[in-house]
Amino acid sequence: MSHFLAYRCSLCGTDYLPHEVTYTCPKDGGNLDVILDYTWIKLHHSIAEITTSAEPSLWRYLPLLPVSDPGGAGTPIHMAGWTPVYALQRLAARLGLRYFWIKDEGRNPTASFKDRASAVVVARAQEIQAKVVVTASTGNAGAALAGMSASVGQPAIIFAPKTAPQAKIAQLLVYGAQVILVDGNYDQAFDLAIEAAHEFGWYCRNTGYNPFTAEGKKTAAFEIWENVLLLRPELERPLVVFIPVGDGNIISGIHKGFKDLLALGWLKQMPRLFGVQAEGSAAIADAFLAGSETIQPVAAQTIADSISVDLPRDGVRAVRAASQTHGGYIKVKDADILKAIAELGPYGLFAEPAGATAYAGLLQALQLGLVTADDPVLVLNTGNGLKDVGAAMQAVQPAAVIEPTMPALKKFLKLS
Ligand SMILES: *Cc1c(COP(=O)(O)O)cnc(C)c1O
Ligand SMILES: [Zn+2]
Repeated sequence: MSHFLAYRCSLCGTDYLPHEVTYTCPKDGGNLDVILDYTWIKLHHSIAEITTSAEPSLWRYLPLLPVSDPGGAGTPIHMAGWTPVYALQRLAARLGLRYFWIKDEGRNPTASFKDRASAVVVARAQEIQAKVVVTASTGNAGAALAGMSASVGQPAIIFAPKTAPQAKIAQLLVYGAQVILVDGNYDQAFDLAIEAAHEFGWYCRNTGYNPFTAEGKKTAAFEIWENVLLLRPELERPLVVFIPVGDGNIISGIHKGFKDLLALGWLKQMPRLFGVQAEGSAAIADAFLAGSETIQPVAAQTIADSISVDLPRDGVRAVRAASQTHGGYIKVKDADILKAIAELGPYGLFAEPAGATAYAGLLQALQLGLVTADDPVLVLNTGNGLKDVGAAMQAVQPAAVIEPTMPALKKFLKLS
C-alpha cells in the first residue's frame, strides 16, 4: 500500500507505522485514524478516474482505501456500498425542504450499512492472511462480517447477544459463520470477543476497535460526494447529513471520508453532520450536549437494537464529527422511531428501527429550527426493515381479517 502511511491516535496524536499496531493506541486505548499520503494519491489518481469507474461497489474508491482489492469479483463483497440515493419529492414538499435525499443502506448485500466496514476488514484479513476473523455485534455487524467472509471463503466467528432479532441471527447461521450467542448484552459480547481474539490469534473486527471499520464506513461519504454534491454544484449551503449513532463509528467514518476529500481538494465544503441517538442509549449525545468529550456509560434500553450501546467505543471521534462540522446531536424517543418507520413506508422505504432513527432526528431538528427550508438535507437509512419485523409490526396497525366473501368485503369497506 504505497499511500497508507501510518496510524494516528485520536487521543494523544502519536503516529504508528502500519506494522507497529493492529487495533488501538497502546498508550491510551484511543481509536486510531488511518493516515493516507494525499500528495501521492493526487499525483496518481483523479476525480474523473473515480467517477468514470464501472465498479458498482465501494471498491470504486480503492485509490482512497488502505487495503487492496479482496478479490471475489462478481460475489457479494463486490456489491457492498454504491447504494441508491432517493430524491423523495413528495416527502420533501411535505417537510418544506428544497433539497432532500435519503440514502438507502438497506440495499447492501446483507441489508445494512455494516457491509461497508466488514468488506474492508475482510480485505485486510486476507492481506494479513488471518485464519479467522471474529466480531461482537448487536446483529448487523456480525451478519455483514459473516456475509462478506462467505464471499471469499474466510472463516468467521460471531458473538451476539442472545436477544438479537431473529432475522439477524438467521443471517449469521445461514452465511455459515460460527455463531456464539451470549447470555448478556452487546458490551459483554464486545469484551469477550477481544479477549478471545488475543488468546486464540483471531483477527478482531470489533466496531470502534479495529481501525479499518471506519475506513470502510467512510465510503458512504464518497458516495454522497459523487452522487449528490458533484452533481449539484449550485448548492451554496453545506449539506446537512443525519446519521443514527450507536458506537459512533458510522458518523466518525463518514467524517473521515469527507476529511479525506477535503484534504485532496476534491470537496468544496465540509457537510454538517448530525448524530441521532435513542434517548435510552445516548451516551455520545449526552457528552456532546454537555460540551464534553468524556463519554459516560449508560444502561442502554431502546427498541433500536442496532444502536443500543452502554459504552460507545468510538465516542470521542463521534463527538468531534459533530463539533468540527457545525453539526450536532439529537435524542429521539422510541415512540418517535416507530412513527418514523410508519412515515417512511408510504414513500417506498422500509427501515429497521435504527435506520429510521435518523429521519426521526430530522423531524426534531426541523421543529427546533436547527435545520431550515434552505438547507440541503440527506438522511441515512442504515438498515433494512426486514431485519426486525417485530418492531415494524409495532409501528403499524394490524391488518383486518375478513371472511372470503363479497358481502363480508362490502361490509368491511363501508365500515373502514
Ligand atoms: C451499527 C448500526 C448503526 C450505528 O452505527 P455505529 O457505528 O454503532 O454508531 C446504525 N444503524 C444500523 C442499522 C446499524 O446496524
Ligand atoms: Zn494514544
